[in-house]
Amino acid sequence: MYTIGIDIGSTTSKGILLKDGKEIVAEMLIVAGIGTNGAKQVLEEILNQQGLSDEEIDYVAATGYGRNTFSFADGKVSELSCHAKGVHYLYPDTRTIIDIGGQDAKVMQLNTDGILLNFLMNDKCAAGTGRFLDVMSNILQLPIEQLESKARSSPEPARISSTCTVFAESEVISSLANGEKLENVIAGICISVASRAAALVKRLGVKESVFMSGGVALNGGVRDGLEKELGVKIHYSDKSQMTGALGAALYAYEKKK
Ligand code: ADP
Repeated sequence: MYTIGIDIGSTTSKGILLKDGKEIVAEMLIVAGIGTNGAKQVLEEILNQQGLSDEEIDYVAATGYGRNTFSFADGKVSELSCHAKGVHYLYPDTRTIIDIGGQDAKVMQLNTDGILLNFLMNDKCAAGTGRFLDVMSNILQLPIEQLESKARSSPEPARISSTCTVFAESEVISSLANGEKLENVIAGICISVASRAAALVKRLGVKESVFMSGGVALNGGVRDGLEKELGVKIHYSDKSQMTGALGAALYAYEKKK
């Protein structure tokens, strides 16, 4: 049986094709989220790539902010349950998920069966989300993928004290103008995102193992900052950005089975 999970986020659309609820056959990410035709493209690309037709797919489940406006799915499911399911599949020992995407940060607690027990979310402010990193990578004219290596080469991270993305932008520019090294500024930017997420985690309580999902999980500078702030190992996977889509594909399998 083939099922597909589509996760329509604020900045990206992701898709996972699952065989028999177990095997990840294909994954697709397009940098175009809610309000674009990114999700439809993801679905079409997966089918084309695998030489499959619509009829051969048993169930398509949509999740993420954009799920309600996506008409090509057989069903919709909340992103919290999808992240829980997807992360439990990738790393079953997980009790705490830190999910940082393009527009929000969430912390979730799971039981040993991967069932969501509790969560907290920041979706009110760009600071502490991928948006903050995107704004900074834009003004520094550095691809987002390069923030990690720059941050990790910093001997002394700069302190970014502004709690607002707009003010932090000016702070970054003036600290560079005052001669601060680029890598120290970038490390400071990553730490700033990590401290905000860490504050959310502390409010909910840290239960190991801790797994990071969402696109920001791919940034080792933020993961390092979280490990320091929380004093625990932060696990992640090269599929961390795909956990919502994976969870939706697993949900689709359960629904059809
Ligand atoms: P959403 O679901 O809200 O669209 P994602 O979970 O896809 O968000 O995460 C998007 C964010 O992830 C981007 O805003 C960016 O900051 C970050 N990101 C994406 N790819 C990478 C990468 N390769 N390395 C570091 N950060 C990344």
